[in-house]
Amino acid sequence: MEIFTEHVNGIMIHKITIGHIHESGCTGCLAALMDNYQGIFTILDKYADLVYGLTLVDVRKIPKMDVALIEGSVCIQDKLATDEVREVRDKSSVVIAIGGCACSGNITRFDRGGQQNQPQHESFVPVSDLIDVDIFVPACAPTPEALRNVCVMTYLLLRGNDEQKALAGMYLKPLMDLARSPYGSKASFNTLMQEVINLGLCMGCGSCAAACPVRAITMEYGKPQGLRDLCVNCGACFSQCPRSFFDHELMEHHEQIMGMLKAVMQ
Ligand code: SF4
Ligand code: SF4
Repeated sequence: MEIFTEHVNGIMIHKITIGHIHESGCTGCLAALMDNYQGIFTILDKYADLVYGLTLVDVRKIPKMDVALIEGSVCIQDKLATDEVREVRDKSSVVIAIGGCACSGNITRFDRGGQQNQPQHESFVPVSDLIDVDIFVPACAPTPEALRNVCVMTYLLLRGNDEQKALAGMYLKPLMDLARSPYGSKASFNTLMQEVINLGLCMGCGSCAAACPVRAITMEYGKPQGLRDLCVNCGACFSQCPRSFFDHELMEHHEQIMGMLKAVMQ
């Protein structure tokens, strides 16, 4: 694997290689990533080389890379798309699903054909239905800061010193757990009820109701109520709830982790 080595402010930097893979979605995640402005330039300047990305990099053959950011769900009637994600998995050390479509299918699960250009496309599935995914970054779209933080923490996990690796691991663990969870892309409203609401973790933010593509969740007196007959088990509410991946150890080290992130991004 190619590793680029440079000096930045007198510090030896071993860059990682990173790619952005665009499947079916609205491109909102890429827009969020680019909304980091200076942050994205700092990352690309100091820590990562972008080696693959539709419209961003003039490379047609998927290269080997350290980190693949996959955005969008995958049409299972589109052989090019299914082959592409499998090839990306084979050639990447870490695969990160960014956004609700890649993590849970989101609203693309409800596409049932009728697209003008490719009417044969009927079924869209989350990336994790086809390949092993290492990290989920849910939400529609994730915030620019969340995407930046995950990129930086993944860099530190791969190239940091022992302390940085430990802190980055703590930051990423809930998102890794979410990717491995049997609920990850297949939760129902009942999962949200059992794993979040009944444990007293709900803070009434309404993200679950906003995420539900069939409006099976309403907010009553600041708490989510489910219309279970409507629920189609898409998992969007669970994967986009900020408390479904709540982690006590992470909270205890929050200041230390944020301090490290600030130092790295300076
Ligand atoms: S309640 Fe809505 S978002 Fe949650 S799993 Fe059911 S359909 Fe999906
Ligand atoms: S997204 Fe999670 S924390 Fe927010 S209202 Fe729904 S269950 Fe509660």
